[in-house]
Order: sequence, then C-alpha cells, then structure tokens
Amino acid sequence: MKKEIIGLAASDRQYRFEQDKLDILPQMCHECDVLFACHGECHKNHFLITSTGESGMNYLCEDWKAFFHRINFPMKIIVWLTCNRYLGSDAMRIIKLNENLLSNGHNDSCHRSNDRKFKFWQGHGKINRKR
Ligand code: SF4
Repeated sequence: MKKEIIGLAASDRQYRFEQDKLDILPQMCHECDVLFACHGECHKNHFLITSTGESGMNYLCEDWKAFFHRINFPMKIIVWLTCNRYLGSDAMRIIKLNENLLSNGHNDSCHRSNDRKFKFWQGHGKINRKR
C-alpha cells in the first residue's frame, strides 16, 4: 500500500496534474508568501475575479492566507523541537508562553504572582528533552 501511494505521488500523471494546476493560478497566487503551503488550494474554489481583473481567484483565499500566517510560528516551534530532539508536546507550552509575552507588557504584573513583574517569569519555562 505504501509503495503504491509513493508510486502515485511520483508518477508522471501526478506531476502533470500539479504542473497544470500551477499554470492556471492567477498572478496573485504566484506572488503569495504562502504559495508553498497553499498551492492555490482546490480549483473548484477558483471562481472569483482578482483585483486586477484576472479570473481564477480562490474564494477562500483570505481565510487560507490568515490560516497559514497563524500557524507559521507554531509550526516553526514544532519543527525546531523535533529537529533538536525535544518533545513535540512542549510546543503548546512555548506557544502559550509566547502569547503571554506578546499580550503582557514587560513591566505588567504577572497573573502567577501579583507582587512580581511579568519580566521575572520570562525564560522560566522549562522544556523536556526526549530520552
Ligand atoms: S492564500 Fe490565496 S493567493 Fe495565496 S496561494 Fe492560497 S489562494 Fe493563492
């Protein structure tokens, strides 16, 4: 089964399908910073007109772009953790810490202790290495 799937993914027919798909994307997709992940998404959704009058704009484009921008940072953390032999499950703790860092001022009081400033806790999250 695994060999069959690899064979299909590497077939000339699949390559042609991907190439045809790329060829008919509007220019806005070719200039998009998340094209590497989105690939223009499914062609059945390409029925809008772009701001420059080109046909083939994906009607879910705005949401796909927001989604890929949103997951960019968490994905980088997961890749970094995995490549450095840490547990992927630590990603959520790091992401939460980052959200706190972004939402709290450096000198704001911390929710963990009213008498300590938020900056006291920065860098105090420990992560676990895989054994
Ligand atoms: S996010 Fe929009 S512009 Fe970017 S590749 Fe996807 S469909 Fe195209």
